[in-house]
Amino acid sequence: MPMLVKTVKIGIHKEVHAVKQQAILATQALYNQTIAFYIEFFVGHIAVLDAKKEARRKNGTPYERSWTNQELLTFAEMHTLDTKAHPHPLQPLIENLPSVRTMPVSLRRAAINHAIGKVKSWYSLLKLWEATDRKKRPPQLGQPNEPITFYADMVEYPDVADVDLEVQRQVRHDFIAVKLFYEGKWQLVPLPVTFHRQAQDALTKSQAESVRIYEATIKARKAPKEAWTDAERAAVRPREWCAMSLALYAKRDKQYPGGLRFAFHVPFEKWVDAPQKAKEQFAADPGMSVVTVDLGVNRLAVMGAFRSDKLTATKFIHGGKVNHHRHQLLNVIANKRSQSGRLQANAQDNVELWGKVRHIDENAARQVARQIVDFALAHEAKVIVLEYLRRYRPPKERMSRSGRKNHKRAYWLRGQIMKWVRDLAFREGILTVERNPAYTSQMCPHCHTQGNRTGPHFACQNPSHLYHADADFVGMMNLYRKWNGSFVYPRKKNRADEPKPVQAYA
Ligand SMILES: [Zn+2]
Repeated sequence: MPMLVKTVKIGIHKEVHAVKQQAILATQALYNQTIAFYIEFFVGHIAVLDAKKEARRKNGTPYERSWTNQELLTFAEMHTLDTKAHPHPLQPLIENLPSVRTMPVSLRRAAINHAIGKVKSWYSLLKLWEATDRKKRPPQLGQPNEPITFYADMVEYPDVADVDLEVQRQVRHDFIAVKLFYEGKWQLVPLPVTFHRQAQDALTKSQAESVRIYEATIKARKAPKEAWTDAERAAVRPREWCAMSLALYAKRDKQYPGGLRFAFHVPFEKWVDAPQKAKEQFAADPGMSVVTVDLGVNRLAVMGAFRSDKLTATKFIHGGKVNHHRHQLLNVIANKRSQSGRLQANAQDNVELWGKVRHIDENAARQVARQIVDFALAHEAKVIVLEYLRRYRPPKERMSRSGRKNHKRAYWLRGQIMKWVRDLAFREGILTVERNPAYTSQMCPHCHTQGNRTGPHFACQNPSHLYHADADFVGMMNLYRKWNGSFVYPRKKNRADEPKPVQAYA
């Protein structure tokens, strides 16, 4: 099953020394020049991509295969680097780029591998283009512009496990040292970073996990052809987030000296065992813990935790503040637009304000999703039940233009929340299932008669069942009934005068 990846960004401090900044840029240029050199090399030796090698399957039958990336890399190194065995390579790298003479081997190999990938994809596109009508522009290779990747031998992390630094942290920076081309040679250069709590925790856990994997590998050490058992294989997989080679990114930002903001992106890997299908889990244990979530506009989420068909906990997240704030911003935008007259085509207006609106939504979506998944974790649920989203229906009542826009964005936010819930839940091995939303906030969850919904209020119409509740809460309860199959749709004769759910939004 799947290896999951997430990225933690660690910003390099604004006041990084100009000389170090130059070193970063120089290293990146050098790295990209090396990639460009090897792209040219492989384009010059394009035949090797079509070349075949004889190989034998396990049962001894011969077959032909293309060269592996490792073989291509060896080929490239043999023809570009001078060694004692080959003092005069075909196309010497050093002559073309003298400053890469001492480049760390891992970085040079990364550049070669990158060039292989680029040329391979370009070459297959080219073949495709030649086989078709050639009307479009042929595929281009372009210039590489890649962030530098630092492998384990090129990085020194600060000792994050050291708790004593907590007090000192206010007066000094943390540094991550990476190998750069600095003052004419390759050396470890400490770069000041703003080390936030999340990155610190992630690195501490990752270091512990690396130690565990290392020990497990030693324990399971095998002769080259000896087979690994499943248990041994499982033991060397990362069960906690484990850091991999970090990359250094430069982003344009006017507020930073030199107009560039630098950040490390640290990818983390984790192995998750595939959860059983929801149906199978339900069949094995019909009373299993489940969290159902009703997503709404004014109330962003109503969550309920169920165990053995009983509601054990609820949680409400209100969206009034987010909606209000967004509405205000949309009003400001509408005002500014009306003052400036006609909008220019192909030019984004009110860039900062729209950015703010986007940011509010994105932030709300992530935070709500995190809370939903935390709620599921707290109640040991292995499945989260959501409604699936129907197409957007504009509100029936009269609204201002920005009010309508706000309504639409609030609806769109539900989709974003669901996207994040799916993603975050999966990282914890929790499944997300979606159920049909038809009638979920119209049926009484207790006596199965149809009720009346007026705004956020639900009232059961069964004369012998005086039941009033919040409509979103009823929706959440009914979602559980849809999960365990006990939901009762209104009877046919009642349904005739109700529009069918499919037609309702057509
Ligand atoms: Zn009722």
